[in-house]
Amino acid sequence: MPRGNLFVMTGASGVGKGTIRGRLLEYHRMYYSISMTTRPPRVGERNGVDYYFVSKAEFESKIAQNGFLEWAQYVEDYYGTPREPVEEALSKGQDVILEIEVQGALQVKQAMPEAILVFIIPPSLSELRRRLLVRGTDSLAKIHKRLKRAEEEIRMADQFKYVLVNDQLDKAVSDFAAIIQAERLLQPRM
Ligand code: 5GP
Repeated sequence: MPRGNLFVMTGASGVGKGTIRGRLLEYHRMYYSISMTTRPPRVGERNGVDYYFVSKAEFESKIAQNGFLEWAQYVEDYYGTPREPVEEALSKGQDVILEIEVQGALQVKQAMPEAILVFIIPPSLSELRRRLLVRGTDSLAKIHKRLKRAEEEIRMADQFKYVLVNDQLDKAVSDFAAIIQAERLLQPRM
């Protein structure tokens, strides 16, 4: 059975990855990998839907068992992609999409050079700050840490095959969809 394609969407927190992914999944049949995190759930987030919310000990034991395709420490918490479901979907020929931060995306690039990496950037850092403030899900101290991290992350854009500016959501979604289509053509699975 030909393997599916692995799409990795990365970029700073607040850049709109989740919104773009939601829109893409309305039109493209792909397996979305639900991450595991030690971050506490935000209001409205559900275990097994938004994330698998676990303790630090559980996360570390999964690291020890080599259970992650990639994982990273981000600001104050761990985030990781459970390896098994991704491998299973790919081996069944399904396309998979990950939505992860930059360190993790670079790990995937190392481990699976065939992965298709798409880096999303904001139109500006001040716009990113505005989006994080409007989202209102984090304290000011955390927003500050996320912005500092965003500056470091944006400098790594040149390590990714595709870079999209999320200035207008519709345009970013259609650009991403064009990448999916082009890559499906480039990697015929026959
Ligand atoms: P948030 O706390 O806002 O949900 O996520 C913080 C950052 O961690 C975001 O950039 C998000 O994309 C990233 N993230 C979510 N899941 C994973 C994962 O499994 N691995 C890595 N490396 N980053 C993740």
